[in-house]
Amino acid sequence: MNGAVPPNSLLSRAVNRLTRAWTCRAVRSRLAAPVATITFDDFPRSAWTRAGPLLEEAGIRASYFVSGCFCERALDGIEYFRREDLLAVHEAGHEIGCHTFGHQRVSKQSREALGASLDRNAAFVRDVLGDVIMTSFAFPHGDASIPAKRLVSSRFAACRGIWAGVNAGLIDLSQLKAFGLEAHVFARYPLKKAVAEAKATNGWLIFFTHDVTDVPTPWGCTPDQLKELIALLTDAGIEILPMKNAIGRVAFT
Ligand SMILES: [Zn+2]
Repeated sequence: MNGAVPPNSLLSRAVNRLTRAWTCRAVRSRLAAPVATITFDDFPRSAWTRAGPLLEEAGIRASYFVSGCFCERALDGIEYFRREDLLAVHEAGHEIGCHTFGHQRVSKQSREALGASLDRNAAFVRDVLGDVIMTSFAFPHGDASIPAKRLVSSRFAACRGIWAGVNAGLIDLSQLKAFGLEAHVFARYPLKKAVAEAKATNGWLIFFTHDVTDVPTPWGCTPDQLKELIALLTDAGIEILPMKNAIGRVAFT
């Protein structure tokens, strides 16, 4: 655990690099063609009310990473999902993934506390949706640690981080790379370059965002940006699948 390390210090960056480089579940990709996954973290209501119709129109299923602590709440001007939204997302065929119950940084939690948060989130989802077992995980705040990677990998088939990059070749299922739909990410790693790389390597592109509104938070996107992403992937001939479906192709095709 690196709870005493100040964020953004040299040591903290070194710990992050070491954590990223360490894997307890690497698989050689079996993808014969590139695929993409669109994910929503937390999830704000607009990720369903605004993004849902766009996904439906395009015939796409996405992955929604749920933290039970946000249910029926409004925080910092963001309205989060209601129980009926979670049910509607599930009934529309989207994947429900785990984002822990309390949405805390996993590197700051003991193994017992993280395990309890996973159990509580699973119970919350079962209470709303019935017999649904989540098989995908996303690290809250993108924060990971080696002990946490080991724990979540023992409970989920695929775990997603927030480090930008294409998943190809030997893929780390304990901390998958993903692109935030944010301008600063694409300034460093242009989307067209990512798409070209995925096509050249039969890679797996994963995207994540939060709210989908006309005036999004710094962590969200506009409906037009989401539509542009879908159009770009579709025009490139890249199939868009939920994480649980993509992992089937990656590991078992
Ligand atoms: Zn989150």
